[in-house]
Amino acid sequence: MDPKSQKVKLNDGHFIPVLGFGTYAPEEVPKSEALEATKFAIEIGFRHVDSAHLYQNEEQVGQAIRSKIADGTVKREDIFYTSKLWCTYLRPELVRPALEKSLKNLQLDYVDLYIIHSPVSLKPGNEFVPKDESGKLIFDSVDLCHTWEALEKCKDAGLAKSIGVSNFNHKQLEKILNKPGLKYKPVCNQVECHPYLNQSKLLEFCKSHDIVLVAYAALGSQLLSEWVNSNNPVLLEDPVLCAIAKKHKQTPALVALRYQIQRGVVVLAKSFNKKRIKENMQVFDFELTPEDIKAIDGLNHNIRYYDFQQGIGHPEYPFSEEY
Ligand code: NAP
Repeated sequence: MDPKSQKVKLNDGHFIPVLGFGTYAPEEVPKSEALEATKFAIEIGFRHVDSAHLYQNEEQVGQAIRSKIADGTVKREDIFYTSKLWCTYLRPELVRPALEKSLKNLQLDYVDLYIIHSPVSLKPGNEFVPKDESGKLIFDSVDLCHTWEALEKCKDAGLAKSIGVSNFNHKQLEKILNKPGLKYKPVCNQVECHPYLNQSKLLEFCKSHDIVLVAYAALGSQLLSEWVNSNNPVLLEDPVLCAIAKKHKQTPALVALRYQIQRGVVVLAKSFNKKRIKENMQVFDFELTPEDIKAIDGLNHNIRYYDFQQGIGHPEYPFSEEY
C-alpha cells in the first residue's frame, strides 16, 4: 500500500487517513487561500481535510474538494472530510440544521466526520462568540448527552458517516460512553496535541476505549490567531526537536508530525504555503527511533496554545481536569 494512504480503522468500521490537512486560518487571511491550499493539498496526496463551520471557509474548502473530484484527481469516497458543530448549536434541536448548513456551504451530500467542536455551549444566535456588555462570553446550559443523541441521528440519516468529539476531557468522554441507550461511541476526540502537550494520559484513555485521538496544533499552532496564547514558546524552535530533525536530515515540523503517527495518533497539519504543504507529506519518508520518541516524550510541559481562557467558569470547561 502507498504509505501516503495510511489509514486507521474507526470504531464504527470507517477508516481515517493518519495525516490530515488543517484549514483554519485567522480571520484576516483571505478565504481564497483556503481554496487554493486545499486544492493543492489534494493534488499532492492529502486525502483527509479538516474544517469547521467556525472557520467560515467551508464554501471554499468544499469548492476545492469538488473541483478535484470534477477534474478526476479523486473520487468523493477517496476524501475524508471533517466538519464541526460550533458551540452555539449544542442544543439538540440545532444540531441537524447546523450540519445541513455546513453541507449547503460545502455543496456536499455528507461529511465523513462530524464532531462537537467543544463541550462549552454558548448562547444560540447569529454570533459565533456571543458576549455581554463587559466582554464576557454568554454561556448556554446543555446536556452533552442530548447533543450526542442528535449527532447519532445525523449519522442514521446519512449526513455524517462518523461522529465524534473535540476538546473533551476523559470525564466528558466517560459521560458519553456511559450514557444509557448509547447507540454509537464517539470515533475520535480531536484535541491539541504536540510535544509540549503530548496528552499521554488522554491518549491511553482513548486507546482503551477504541477512540482515535486526532492531534491539532501538532506544529505548535498559529501564534497570531485570536484563539492562541502567544506567550508560549515556539515549538518548532525547540532544541531537542531541531537536533532530532538534523540527525534525520528532516525538519522539526516533520519530526513533530512523525512523532504523532508513530504513537498511534492521527495528525493534522495546517499550511497555506505550497512548499510547506509538500514538505508535510514527507512525514511518511522516515522513521524516528525509540530513543527519539523517548526524548520527545521528555518535552511535555503541559503547554496549551489554545487554552480558551474565556470559557473558564463554564461547567463544561474541559481544561481544568488533568486530562
Ligand atoms: P498547526 O498545524 O500546528 O500549524 C501551525 C503553523 O505551522 C501554520 O500556521 C503553518 O504556517 C506552519 N507550518 C505548517 N507546516 C510547516 C512546516 N513544514 N514548517 C514550518 N511551519 C509550518 O496549527 P493549527 O492550524 O492551529 O492546527 C491544525 C488544524 O487543526 C487547524 O487548521 C484546524 O483544522 C484544526 N484545529 C482544530 C481545533 C479544535 O478546536 N478542534 C483547534 C485548532 C485547530 P503556514 O500556513 O504559513 O505554512
